Amino acid sequence: MKITLAKTAGFCFGVNRAVQMVYDLVDNGEKVCTLGPIIHNSQMVEELKSKGVRVVNSPDEAKLDETLVIRSHGVGKSTYESAEKVGVKVCDATCPFVAKIHKIVAEQSAAGDTILIAGDEAHHEVIGIIGHCVSDYYVFSSESELENLIENHLELKENPISVVSQTTFNAKKWENAQIFLKKVCTNAKIFDTICSATSTRQREAQELARSNDVMVVIGGRHSSNTAKLFQVCASFCQNTHLIETASELVADWFLNANNVGVVAGASTPAGIIKEVIKTMSEILQPVDEQLEEVVQKSFEEMTDEEAFEASLNSLTGEQKVCGTVVAVNASEITVDIGRGVTGYVSAEEYSSEPVDLLSEVKVDDKLNLIIMKISDQEGTAMLSKRRYDAIAGWDNIVAAKDSGEVLHGVVRDVIKGGVVVYCNNVRVFIPASQATASRNDSLEELKGTEVDFRIIEIGRGRRAVGSIRSVLREARKEAEEKVWASIAVGDRITGTVKSLTSYGAFVDIGGVDGMVHISELSWNRIKNPAEVVSVGDEIEVYVKALDTEKKKISLGYKKAEDNPWTIFQNNYNVDDVVTVKIVSMTTYGAFARIIPGVDGLIHISQIANKHVAKPQDELAIGQEVEAKITAVDLEKKRVSLSIRVLLEPEVVEEAVAEDEVVATTEEAVAEAPVEEVAEEAAE
Ligand code: SF4
Repeated sequence: MKITLAKTAGFCFGVNRAVQMVYDLVDNGEKVCTLGPIIHNSQMVEELKSKGVRVVNSPDEAKLDETLVIRSHGVGKSTYESAEKVGVKVCDATCPFVAKIHKIVAEQSAAGDTILIAGDEAHHEVIGIIGHCVSDYYVFSSESELENLIENHLELKENPISVVSQTTFNAKKWENAQIFLKKVCTNAKIFDTICSATSTRQREAQELARSNDVMVVIGGRHSSNTAKLFQVCASFCQNTHLIETASELVADWFLNANNVGVVAGASTPAGIIKEVIKTMSEILQPVDEQLEEVVQKSFEEMTDEEAFEASLNSLTGEQKVCGTVVAVNASEITVDIGRGVTGYVSAEEYSSEPVDLLSEVKVDDKLNLIIMKISDQEGTAMLSKRRYDAIAGWDNIVAAKDSGEVLHGVVRDVIKGGVVVYCNNVRVFIPASQATASRNDSLEELKGTEVDFRIIEIGRGRRAVGSIRSVLREARKEAEEKVWASIAVGDRITGTVKSLTSYGAFVDIGGVDGMVHISELSWNRIKNPAEVVSVGDEIEVYVKALDTEKKKISLGYKKAEDNPWTIFQNNYNVDDVVTVKIVSMTTYGAFARIIPGVDGLIHISQIANKHVAKPQDELAIGQEVEAKITAVDLEKKRVSLSIRVLLEPEVVEEAVAEDEVVATTEEAVAEAPVEEVAEEAAE
């Protein structure tokens, strides 16, 4: 069993463009309503509804803060006038192929021609076309209707008439109508306005229906082009079924079948097509081990990379043109490319960067473009400047790979496994391992920034892989060499804190990292460098030591002038009375903070003018008291304080007796190294 999916299945250019416009508006945070469902697909309409997109039936129903989207079918002139009257903002997603018909009928009817339209009078596209006619018009949907029309209006045989068709009109019927008109109406101008997307789709459907036992047509039951695909398939394959979703598939349809063809209408999302193929495979697999799927990827399904590759690979020299800008609006440029062809360049196809077309492009500008799609019958073409520039830019990218040249670009996206940079309109993939200087750096922070990079690989299908890291490393190496060539002990440098460890802070001093040991961060005792500095801080450091062999730089941060003992020495003297705060107590006294970093000892004998059994009897941690500086030993970093000398003596005999004890104890304390005294105090 073989399942073959039509190459043209799924969204056509016009529908894809309209749906994309709605998503773009929603993504930009705009409130959106569409004039009728944006496509004939209830699942997608529901999805948009969940994003707040309303469906309205006329411009009057739109709210003033909403953007009203006109769908790809287009509307008559009066609808634009109504929207303007209501004051609602309009986003016109009319397919350019339909807009071309509007232009034809408006011009030809203004010139006095009677307009004949091949199509379904009730279809919105035809209603829209009629809405641009300013003279008599008639609609016919079959050869017999056309014959009757001419018989009842014999003047049409000779009067000037212009004939157009609905873009989705049946190709065979249109061919027959043209033969008839050319025979009967001597003054007829026939404009072949069937969309090639439709005719190609119908032709492919016909070919598949001829060669397959079962045909499955996927699409909305209200979609005219899906209905026509069904008609085409049914006329060549009796076993043809129209479904909207995979849940409608019936296993019995495939009994005794050797092959199945699948086609889909222009408004069928790729996700639904995929689901149908998957479900069909599941139904068929148990009975058919040889099941083969021939599935082409649609444009909508392709990743950016694949679509880009596909579009570039399919281009030939003949598809390059130079066009003259004839009109510009916010979303599209209209270009004359000669040969009677009007081209359109959407904002997305103008540049790979977001662009304001109105300020960037002027009428009469000349643009080098690539033709993506052309319809000779309609005289319209979809063009791309972005792709033209990408082709030109590609040569530079390849040359840069060989020369190692550093390129410049903007990080447009962070994707799985890396980032995407655009340079010369060429997409360059930079793997995560090559995107930042170190693996821990965030990729997200790169988004939207300008970066320098090198091309490190040119892959199949115009794939370019780059490295930002190689440029960063080189720049760092250069900076390092510069630093080592000029650095000297004692230099004062402003650096940036790059990282913290339990033993210190690493500081970037212009391309090289130096280390400030925790003991060099503060004059006070600290447990963690984070108490003093944070990553990203700009700090002034000085070079304490250099090891040129091991390439290590020791830095100092705390300044001599901030040394608390220097401050103390400059501001305090023996006999000064100071307000101090009790910070710790021990058996032989209490330590009191004079200034941060300098604590003095109030010996137990100096706490009060009476006998004190233990410091806690008279003092409490945190208490502020007045004390006199009685002795200072700057070398040993000791200060003695006394509260007692500020008090009236109470019992002289006892005090004298205690003095003897004090002297003994003070001597003991004085003998002990300051660290020991402090440690005991802390306990
Ligand atoms: S079928 Fe053709 S005319 Fe209609 S929306 Fe699609 S591309 Fe445009």
